Amino acid sequence: MSSFKTLDDLGEVTGKVALVRVDLNLPMQEGRASDVTRVEAAMPTILELADKGAKVLLLAHFGRPKGQRHSTMSTSMVQGDIERVLDREIMFIPEVMGPVVEQSVGILSNGDIGLLDNIRFWPGEEANDPEFAKGIAAHGDFYVNDAFSAAHRAHASTEGLARLLPAYAGRAMEAELKALDAALGSPEQPVASVVGGAKVSTKLDVLENLVGKVQHLIIGGGMANTFLAARGVNVGKSLCEHDLTGTANRIMDHADHAGCTVHLPYDVVVAKEFAANPASLRTCNVHEVAEDEMILDVGPLAVQALGDVLKTCRTLVWNGPMGAFETEPFDTATVALAKTAAALTQDGSLISVAGGGDTVAALAHAGVKDDFTFVSTAGGAFLEWMEGKELPGVAALTK
Ligand code: ADP
Ligand code: MG
Repeated sequence: MSSFKTLDDLGEVTGKVALVRVDLNLPMQEGRASDVTRVEAAMPTILELADKGAKVLLLAHFGRPKGQRHSTMSTSMVQGDIERVLDREIMFIPEVMGPVVEQSVGILSNGDIGLLDNIRFWPGEEANDPEFAKGIAAHGDFYVNDAFSAAHRAHASTEGLARLLPAYAGRAMEAELKALDAALGSPEQPVASVVGGAKVSTKLDVLENLVGKVQHLIIGGGMANTFLAARGVNVGKSLCEHDLTGTANRIMDHADHAGCTVHLPYDVVVAKEFAANPASLRTCNVHEVAEDEMILDVGPLAVQALGDVLKTCRTLVWNGPMGAFETEPFDTATVALAKTAAALTQDGSLISVAGGGDTVAALAHAGVKDDFTFVSTAGGAFLEWMEGKELPGVAALTK
């Protein structure tokens, strides 16, 4: 893994100003955050710096104001939520640079926390304008990035600042980078990857990258239908991107050459209508899907076999559910395979890393989210990492 500095590398910070990029983009309901996971994730870093005597300035985006001030997208909207999670008072500062910030820093005592306003109110943020970054950097002695979820963006607060100030990974960033490196950077072999979800088209780059890196590629979800169709299987009225069967074949050829075994389901759960527990529900071999049926989950024999594959592996990277898990009983394969992976992880035989919005929801639904080695809530950044891309926010820390 390319090396980066962490909070362990900080010397004496008493009285120094830390510019800390965090993810405060909380989902809101009726003026309150409906989920404070992101604040909880940033809490160890914020409190560690404050307790070491630094003046902590929090820097974050909130919503998509597109370079203009919007009162409803001020970070002050989540000030109360942050104070509740941290159990400390923080000072809201309605700017990100200039005299107001300077005076506020003067008022803050060592160990105090300030919350700067939504960085995306200024167009210089998303443009990664060096002058804008300089204006912010002028207020800080060092920079800490604890927002992996924004690391796929080369913005002033995620990339530009890291080039202007001594830069460190926060605790959440550090944990994420270590887990991701253990999964695909320098993993224990053999490695299995589960890729599911609705469509092949959203995960082409993920699949292309994985076939060159893993020994077992397990394809489930709607995207398996496109691969089955590519192999000449009639998938009835299943969700299927017929125009991508050529691409699917190319990926399978690439896998062959790279020594990666592609696992497609050989039995499936089908129904004539997409509803909970439909009357037409049945399980069949993939070659027996009728013209008016759709594949909505991987079948039990395949799940059993996939569990056996995981037992031979040391590392698992998972993105995308195996079936339409939001609707019963099409959650069965996802839940069963997730439980197998969780049990193997708890036994110490598997390092399991998972990510993706629906994947996190599916693992929570299966009750095993805390039994995986690491579950990333980073969404877009996680997918770009699975695509093998260099994330600008990470690259700037490892300069
Ligand atoms: P993630 O957010 O974890 O990256 P995706 O967004 O790619 O995952 O895919 C999740 C969606 O895929 C879910 O809404 C699920 O219902 C859908 N899905 C999975 N299998 C099927 C299927 N066989 N047919 C239709 N939709 C499916
Ligand atoms: Mg999704």
